[in-house]
Amino acid sequence: MNQAWLQCLLISALLCFCRCFPIEYNTEGGPVEGKLNVHLVPHTHDDVGWLKTVDQYYTGSNSSIQVAAVQYILDSFIDALQIDPNRKFIYVEVAFFKRWWREQSKEKREIVRKLVDSGQLEFINGGWCMHDEASTYYVDMIDQTTLGHRFIKKEFGMVPRIGWQIDPFGHSAVQAYLLSAEVGFDALFFARADYQDIAKRREDRTMEMIWRASKSLGSTAQVFTGILSHHYDPPPEFRYDIKTTETTIQDDPFLYDYNVEERVDLFVQLAEEQAKQFRTNHIMWTMGEDFAYENANTWFKQMDKLIHYVNKDGRVNVFYSTPTIYTLQKHAANESWPLKTDDFFPYADCEHCYWTGYFTSRPALKGYVRKLSGLLQAARQLEFIVGRNKGITNTDSLEEAMAVLQHHDGVSGTEKQHVANDYALRLSRASIEAEDVMKSALVCLMSGKLNCADNSSSMLRTRLKPHEGHSLQEIGSSSTSKYEAGRLVLEQCPLLNISYCPKTESKMEAGTNLAIVIYNPLGWTRNEVIKLPVSSSAFEILDSNGSKIQAQFVPIDPTLRKVHDYYATAFQEASVQDGALFNLYFEVAVPSLGYVVYFMKATKTEASWTIAMKPQDFNGDIILDSTRIQMVFSNSTGLLKQIRNYEDEVSIPMQQSFCWYNGSDGNTGEKRIQASGAYVFRPNSSSCFHLGNTSEQAIQSVMQGDIVTEIYQQFSPWVSQVVRLYKNADDVEIDFLVGPIPIDDNLGKEIVARFMTNISSSKEFYTDSNGRDFLKRIRNYRKEWDLDIHEEIAGNYYPVNLGMYLKDNETDFSLLVDRSLGGSSIFDGELELMLHRRLLHDDGRGVGEALNESICLNGTNSCEGLTVQGKIYLNVGPVRKASEWRRTKGLKVALPLQISFATLEEKETNLINIPQYSALPPGYELPPNIAIITLQELEDKLTLLRLAHLYEIGEDDKFSTPARVDLQNLFPGRKIEEVVELNLSGVQKKSEMTSLDWRIEGEENDMHEAPKRNKIMNDEYLVELAPMEIRTFQLEFDD
Ligand SMILES: [Zn+2]
Repeated sequence: MNQAWLQCLLISALLCFCRCFPIEYNTEGGPVEGKLNVHLVPHTHDDVGWLKTVDQYYTGSNSSIQVAAVQYILDSFIDALQIDPNRKFIYVEVAFFKRWWREQSKEKREIVRKLVDSGQLEFINGGWCMHDEASTYYVDMIDQTTLGHRFIKKEFGMVPRIGWQIDPFGHSAVQAYLLSAEVGFDALFFARADYQDIAKRREDRTMEMIWRASKSLGSTAQVFTGILSHHYDPPPEFRYDIKTTETTIQDDPFLYDYNVEERVDLFVQLAEEQAKQFRTNHIMWTMGEDFAYENANTWFKQMDKLIHYVNKDGRVNVFYSTPTIYTLQKHAANESWPLKTDDFFPYADCEHCYWTGYFTSRPALKGYVRKLSGLLQAARQLEFIVGRNKGITNTDSLEEAMAVLQHHDGVSGTEKQHVANDYALRLSRASIEAEDVMKSALVCLMSGKLNCADNSSSMLRTRLKPHEGHSLQEIGSSSTSKYEAGRLVLEQCPLLNISYCPKTESKMEAGTNLAIVIYNPLGWTRNEVIKLPVSSSAFEILDSNGSKIQAQFVPIDPTLRKVHDYYATAFQEASVQDGALFNLYFEVAVPSLGYVVYFMKATKTEASWTIAMKPQDFNGDIILDSTRIQMVFSNSTGLLKQIRNYEDEVSIPMQQSFCWYNGSDGNTGEKRIQASGAYVFRPNSSSCFHLGNTSEQAIQSVMQGDIVTEIYQQFSPWVSQVVRLYKNADDVEIDFLVGPIPIDDNLGKEIVARFMTNISSSKEFYTDSNGRDFLKRIRNYRKEWDLDIHEEIAGNYYPVNLGMYLKDNETDFSLLVDRSLGGSSIFDGELELMLHRRLLHDDGRGVGEALNESICLNGTNSCEGLTVQGKIYLNVGPVRKASEWRRTKGLKVALPLQISFATLEEKETNLINIPQYSALPPGYELPPNIAIITLQELEDKLTLLRLAHLYEIGEDDKFSTPARVDLQNLFPGRKIEEVVELNLSGVQKKSEMTSLDWRIEGEENDMHEAPKRNKIMNDEYLVELAPMEIRTFQLEFDD
């Protein structure tokens, strides 16, 4: 052999070896003009509780249910990012990140900070969780976002720029304009929208748009919005999780199955297909899935290869990216975008698959969340008023628990039962601490101390760690921690909704007094009637001057007492027999942001009580009257016939009934038949089966009195209600009681309350968006596309957080709710609310359980279906006055009076005459269209204040106008050192916020006029709010 030739062969073999191994992957890159750019966005979707609890997801335990461990995900992607500075990652859920962060060494934290600084790791969305958008109240959405953003700001000095609501099951107007635009997000991305909507958008290339969701704030609060192309996964052939069954890239020619060209061809083909549905030459591939990156190497190693070989091929350009980079490229393209104005409810993923069941799923948990939302706001106010405690008891744990519950498998009701129990336990423990904060503040204020901030000696309780104390049964039990100031020991009764309150029910010696301390978290004086359970009528009520006031004792119906006994026993782990016999009613007047004390004084003789009347005691129709409202019930059926508003001379016929839809059976097997379940509402016909028999009398008793008149109606053995008219109320209060829903006939049931009027609503009705704006709904219609509807009931359901209404030219019929529920108007003139659901099949969307809630007596096998108690408020009146009622009453429902009790011995009568208190100057109230939605002292001595205008533009003649507040009026006796206006989540100066200008189709030549927004007028501390505006301020006091 020729030696020269041999030498040459050897050298080239060596060269090849050197060149080929190890392969250096070129992962550099960025946008290239003129090419199709594919943004690879590595991410993981980590649910803050769903199939496992939030802690189990973090630690990775309970893996027989699901293999998922967020701690290793964080370990793993942080390591993987350090290997190559071109790699990028986004992280979303601060609830998990904070758990991980506190375990990290100083060195590790430094590494992570560098990754954030360099842009390799970016926090997006950045709330505590990825909140639900249907069953969440806007104040809670703001709070949970603020909690996450403040953590990111504090640890990394960073402000998230992108909304990333990839998994929630439908998207709200409030998410777009408030929780995105007003937070300062440049874009909002999500995955789920109606399948018909998406099909049309792919066709029209309108998957990305400008979403201008607020009538009132218009273009000043719009956001670039993108629907993701492949859910939030990669195209299926490019899934690289360790559990994947997909083909990987095999680029070693010495091994079998070399496939580089084939994979590159497929990549290019899929990218080009996707590009046909999107505008500009930038598309996004979301490289992740649920709980992905537990082994980040399997993803990054494959993506490194993809970037290297696809770019070498050159047909398309691919690189590591983030949604922020992607959005800036979309913006730079100077394209015109379609405009979207309403919302993305309801969501369906196939013909018979409307995700409208979860609007109501777990109504008791939804009620608990709403109730604690009110407690948190009130406790925070009092914490601010007395000064945030230097000790350890504060409102932080309730803030955190509430933030966890906002998750899209939390308050939505789509989690497994054991997870729902864990959520309730978190709320319960945290609420005890918040109650302590509230009680100690009240005691301090009542003791007349000048400086309650120094009251730390009264903070006897140490914060419970999760493994200490309180059992599950303590959920809802009377909170017993005690604070003393003088001899005043305050307690609360969390189970007042079922008329259970040991403090007021227990026998009291004649001469003993019970002090009733009532706190009002609103900026307006409030006149309301209080209802307390008592075991006898040997009491009188004294006002804060010690003068006797009118009281009314109303016997509690035996059916309600049974519920009371069963639930009180279940919660207390002990039999409760001597339950309350009466509800005691009396009227209170409570100053704004303040309290008043009333006294219940035991007497030797019993007072008379309201005598129960039967329908036969009436001649003809049964008529209930308040000074403003009249309700007429048929004497033969006991059903509502008519409602009349005296003040405005409006009278309409109204019927009310209860009925149930039969939830479809189904299976999740190969030939899937859609069942009704935790997510999906699918009645097996449009019939709603009537509850009650027209030949039977629905009215069990009528109680007519000077303060309140009540009718107790029974519609079936498991559906009843109390209809209540207070003397001066302009609305009707209904306490409904639904359950235990029977399932011995093997039929799943979804229970609905229907209200039927003669209002000609011509298919239109209105439902609220997260308790804020009202959106017009039209039956069997969607603005964006020609709706092809296969589920005429479920497909017309919408989330109801605050309320719903319908109207014609003159008359409005509105109803408000005390928790989020689903609702609709299936026939003209009618409104219906779904109150409860009990179902026997899983609906095949992942939770893997039927929604079948039950309650058991501890230590026994005595279990039954869960009974749900809640409130609906009704108002009928002229259209021009309706919104005033909805807004004012709605705020009162969201921020109820907070009541505490203290027993006073006879010798302590000197404690009577505790003057009432308001944190506002004497006689000052907030304007009727303004509310304080946040008043919170932060841990760094700064105070966060949010003011909200309560009306939309054009909603009310009087109140849809700009309103002013002088901040100094809110803080009498304190000197404001500095006021800074911030973005909605409280982490960026308003003056430093930037926003991208977008071109909108059809508006290029039309100068769109943005509504006027207001700036703080710094010298005078006078701030103005435009309709629907929420303004966030950081205050510093000079004291
Ligand atoms: Zn999720």
